[in-house]
Amino acid sequence: MNPRAKITDEQFAKYLKQIREFSEGPLEKLQPEVEVSNKFPQEFFDLARANDLYRFSLPACYGGWDLSELEILKVQEEFSRGPGGMRMHLHYAADLNWRILDGYGSEELKALYMDKFQDKSIFTCFALTEQSGGTGADIHTTAEKNAEGNYVLNGEKWLISHTDCCDFAYVFAVTDPRDPKDTRLSAFFVPVNTPGYETVPMPHMMGCRGAGHAGLRFTNLILDKKYLLGKEGQGMEIAMHSLAVSRVHIAASNLGMSQKMLEMSLARAHDRITFGKPIATRQAIKIKIANMDTMIHALRCMVYDFARDFDENPHGEYIDEKAAMCKLFSIDTVKLVSDEMLEIFGGDGYFEESSYGPVERLYRDCRALWLEEGAPTIQRITIARECQRHRAKLEYLP
Ligand SMILES: Cc1cc2nc3c(=O)[nH]c(=O)nc-3n(C[C@H](O)[C@H](O)[C@H](O)COP(=O)(O)OP(=O)(O)OC[C@H]3O[C@@H](n4cnc5c(N)ncnc54)[C@H](O)[C@@H]3O)c2cc1C
Repeated sequence: MNPRAKITDEQFAKYLKQIREFSEGPLEKLQPEVEVSNKFPQEFFDLARANDLYRFSLPACYGGWDLSELEILKVQEEFSRGPGGMRMHLHYAADLNWRILDGYGSEELKALYMDKFQDKSIFTCFALTEQSGGTGADIHTTAEKNAEGNYVLNGEKWLISHTDCCDFAYVFAVTDPRDPKDTRLSAFFVPVNTPGYETVPMPHMMGCRGAGHAGLRFTNLILDKKYLLGKEGQGMEIAMHSLAVSRVHIAASNLGMSQKMLEMSLARAHDRITFGKPIATRQAIKIKIANMDTMIHALRCMVYDFARDFDENPHGEYIDEKAAMCKLFSIDTVKLVSDEMLEIFGGDGYFEESSYGPVERLYRDCRALWLEEGAPTIQRITIARECQRHRAKLEYLP
């Protein structure tokens, strides 16, 4: 399937199966405690490492397997069938965690750190969102140059994932406040042990329990200029390009969750007898199943189409548009599928510990994906902008 890959097609197929069994077995076993403690036990990180989940998406030069984006997204679909907080951690590990440094770090930083992602010797967080403004160019954290040419960071970030287990933060800050354009922003790789870096606790989330979240506060944090990513003024471009791919990882997560919810719903619909017949034989239930299945199929086609484009050219003409479409459509899919699942399960679906799987938890977990990496409105803004730019034309690889 992929001539560059460091594992054979057969090994890859076995790996997909291994990850499905791992997500639905050992990870599910850890989750009841995580639901209460809201913290991953060390065992989770050890198991993820043992199952190559920090390594599989990396290029071979950093200890990975040189998989194509299509293959990476297939792995993402499999582990997304497990607990949502663990999915959130593994989703980030497979993508933004290493990709930003690889794409925009200096040769010096890459030589120091790129081979440390493969076993989680280092982990990062992505810090864009703020309480004081809109997500994107409307941020207020500043990075001013001092006399030595280093940067002094001041400001805050909010809703930031993985703050409890990271060594570095990708921080987006204003370097040129007089610039009215997106080029006012720059991106930095900030060691979290730098004086002036603080975390601010946040309340428990609706679902995806265990994935640590916090606000960040920077107070006169002095950052060596070597930690600038890309060029000064490139911050918005770095954020948007990195988020485009990550949005499709969100879509693949929604795909994995939706597929799992459909399978559980089918099993229940066949077992549940009312008025002498399984509800699966009723037309009203068949319509639900058909709608769920169709949305899931369409989503899978969109994700695979994006992956083929990305494998051809990561900076291709339709990457941003197709990525935003994948994320938007994946929300519609998981929304419909989770709602229909709840109806098919009836009252039992509202309770924890269903013998068919975590109905109630999946319903909560999937709702984080509305917001992770940009709400639906933001996807629509991107799609409409790109659609106008392309005069309503989209291209597909043969
Ligand atoms: C579980 C979780 C994990 C997260 N992890 C991270 C992380 O690791 N790093 C990070 O940086 N952020 C993270 N976020 C933040 C996430 O990216 C934002 O919540 C999301 O982008 C929406 O921004 P907001 O919450 O500030 O909403 P708001 O900006 O307050 O927006 C509220 C609503 O208004 C709409 N809206 C806002 N501005 C406009 C506009 N100009 N035009 C039209 N509609 C508009 C939005 O689309 C949204 O529907 C996380 C969020 C969640 C829930």
